[in-house]
Amino acid sequence: MTLSSMVHEQTRLIHGDSRCDALQRTPGPVIQRGSTVLLPSCEALYDGGKVTYGRVGLSTQRTLRDALRDLEHADEAFIYPSGLTAITGTLLALLSAGDEVLACDTVYNPTRRFLAGTLARYGVTARYFDPADDAESIRAMITPKTRVIFLESPGSLSFEMQDIPAIAAMAKQAGIMTVIDNTWSAGVLFKPLDHGVDVSIQSLTKYVCGHSDVFMGLAAAKGHAAVLLAASSYETGWAVSPDDAYMAIRGLRTLHSRLAHHGAAALKIAEWLEVQPEVQSVMCPALPSDPGHAIWKRDFTGICGLIGAVLKPASETAVAAMVEQLKLFGLGFSWGGYESLAIPVDPQLKARTHKLSYPGPLLRLHIGLERVDDLIADLRQGLDTLSQETAAPQRKLRAAG
Ligand SMILES: *Cc1c(COP(=O)(O)O)cnc(C)c1O
Repeated sequence: MTLSSMVHEQTRLIHGDSRCDALQRTPGPVIQRGSTVLLPSCEALYDGGKVTYGRVGLSTQRTLRDALRDLEHADEAFIYPSGLTAITGTLLALLSAGDEVLACDTVYNPTRRFLAGTLARYGVTARYFDPADDAESIRAMITPKTRVIFLESPGSLSFEMQDIPAIAAMAKQAGIMTVIDNTWSAGVLFKPLDHGVDVSIQSLTKYVCGHSDVFMGLAAAKGHAAVLLAASSYETGWAVSPDDAYMAIRGLRTLHSRLAHHGAAALKIAEWLEVQPEVQSVMCPALPSDPGHAIWKRDFTGICGLIGAVLKPASETAVAAMVEQLKLFGLGFSWGGYESLAIPVDPQLKARTHKLSYPGPLLRLHIGLERVDDLIADLRQGLDTLSQETAAPQRKLRAAG
């Protein structure tokens, strides 16, 4: 007997079938929406080992987590509603009151803000080491309170490389956990967990999702760190929607192809920038002139589209005039999407503990998927504006007056 003959229309609409026909398989995964999970028995309701509630993620999120776990060579992958919640969630999972974090001075600024704000309130302290410090110098900073070393290599503003295998080995010996923000490598170009790191974090918002329209984060972990993250992500209850998980899975399909284009174009532009008269130096570890080149060559299999340039001395207004009139490079935060972006980064570097000194302003470029010669032409006319503004900064003011 069908339900329809037994109940009213109102009830029938509520109990309408949901089917997933095995003969209607599609290349993409099923987007499984659901808060309530229907269970076969009372015993299953209270079976802690099973998925009994949608917040922990259903088949779409599980598909994504499995793919990310494999990508990062991890024991388990945890997903969060943003890259920043992956960072804060990981720190909450690994730290307790009285602990101390040693963080590389290149960390993403909101990481620094969380350490100085929430974690300080919870009795966790933080100190920063210079990205140029080697494993031995970092070892010398360790106290009995040190619990976590937080790394990011290359830095996403100033591109310093760290010797991750050496630092991870030193930390392991000292019984300290290592965490890395691996967003720059997208989990493809560098595999931190193969080099002894305990947790690899990514803002999936960047390359994995890849189209500047989804927020998501990843913490991929091995061993005891994975156990701590499992408990903490369950306790804190961050959830990712199945629709967003679907978008991240879609991004993974083209991740290698997109990165190959981003990396080749970024290298070409880095080499071109190096010989432009307005440029002092280029920050891209694939260039033999970059101080991090040897480490990059040893540990990484490529570069992404994010590079930097130190310009010859120029005023803030001249740099602003340049980036504001670029035609193909957008002016905005974030990176990893299909589109090119350019921003001056000096204001963000003010947060650093170990002050930096460069001969001129720093420009950060994200090289998108456009034709590289179009991007070079756009940058050339931008650099022309920079030279004009540097040579005659008053011209515009006089014209305006
Ligand atoms: C963007 C970014 C994050 C934060 O990611 P969201 O998804 O924007 O929260 C973390 N680390 C790095 C290096 C980033 O560039």
